[in-house]
Amino acid sequence: MTDTPTYGFDTLQIHAGARPDPATGARNTPIYQSTAYVFRDADHAAALFNLQEVGYIYSRLTNPTVAVLQERIATLEGGAGAVCCSSGHAAQIMALFPIMSPGKNVVVSNRLYGGTITQFSQTIKRFGWEAKFVDMDDLDAVKAAIDDNTRAVFGEAIANPGGYIMDVRAIADIADAAGLPLIIDNTTATPYLCRPIEHGATLVVHSTTKYLTGNGSVTGGCVVDSGKFDWTASDKFPSLSEPEQAYHGLKFAETFGPLAYTFHGIAIGLRDLGMTMNPQAAHYTLMGIETLSLRMDRHVENATKIAKWLEADDRIEYVTYAGLESSPYFERIKDVCPRGASSLFTFAVKGGYDACIKLVDALEIFSHVANLGDARSLIIHSASTTHRQLTAEQQEAAGAGPGVVRVSIGLEDADDLIADLDQALSKAVS
Ligand SMILES: *Cc1c(COP(=O)(O)O)cnc(C)c1O
Repeated sequence: MTDTPTYGFDTLQIHAGARPDPATGARNTPIYQSTAYVFRDADHAAALFNLQEVGYIYSRLTNPTVAVLQERIATLEGGAGAVCCSSGHAAQIMALFPIMSPGKNVVVSNRLYGGTITQFSQTIKRFGWEAKFVDMDDLDAVKAAIDDNTRAVFGEAIANPGGYIMDVRAIADIADAAGLPLIIDNTTATPYLCRPIEHGATLVVHSTTKYLTGNGSVTGGCVVDSGKFDWTASDKFPSLSEPEQAYHGLKFAETFGPLAYTFHGIAIGLRDLGMTMNPQAAHYTLMGIETLSLRMDRHVENATKIAKWLEADDRIEYVTYAGLESSPYFERIKDVCPRGASSLFTFAVKGGYDACIKLVDALEIFSHVANLGDARSLIIHSASTTHRQLTAEQQEAAGAGPGVVRVSIGLEDADDLIADLDQALSKAVS
């Protein structure tokens, strides 16, 4: 089938990018477990290496199973193209790589996945890149943080560890006025709940490890390009606008138009950084995405029920789920993610750090793991695990203080999850 926007989300999540296998008729997308692909002849090989013809050379760059997943995610996000990577963290480096260089900075939200805060505040410095952390609800602070060396703005639509919803349109307008791309990490929302490109984002990154795969089986990442940003409008993005030595002076923006960023991601990013997704992982994620809308609806329904129950319980201090009327973001979700606030949130337990540790140990259905977006319900005490590397101020700013636990509500019976929380809370809070 052709992927036209006239099809609904449920149809596209099953069909976009996939066709019956031309060689065998296989209806499901085969796992093309091959490193290399035979050239028709020497001219064909030369054309492929010169980027004059699109095709398969070597699986560090492109693989037919991974290509289906790339087209599927690009379609669901309303983007022009996508590049899949070995993990969400790989996707973040791949997203920044074409637009950053030593001495340049990215303005980022201070409410992010703990690993991303570490990646941005520590590791990217080794490349000579800098991240400037700001509160994205303070629009003046975002504007003030942007300087001549800024090359992108970055935030999460629904921020990990949960409860915060970014006003994507307002931030996109600021980035736009400064001639910069806005990169949205849409991992927690997924394109079913939020479509950042429709709110003005240039690029969308995913940890496909989470809700997109949906069952905690493989790691993966993806960078989606809207195809709408003009990389030639300023001299800020020479990798895309200027001649590329490695391809005989080819200019990506001029040659590939709306696919320039995606082609750069494959022809330079995957070629030289090698953060490639393998076809097995793509297969599991393709299977997961087929049921994305059904799962997300249930995740939201369960999370809403459980958040309401927790909020009414006197052993709980507060609950941060944006789907609760008490949330400061309850109005914003109607615009940014109208189908719900996903199933990731935090709650503070009376009794602080010690009570959180006891709670995590006493739960029976919830698993104590460093993951989210699984069919299984998961819990973690962020301050002693995922956010352990951060300073106390960073933990508080990220919503991961010592008295707070983070849950990722799964697809089990909500009543069973509530009963489990009830028995564990009675052991944790005396
Ligand atoms: C997990 C996660 C990442 C990192 O993804 P990996 O696949 O673990 O590398 C990035 N952002 C968010 C919001 C995440 O939840």
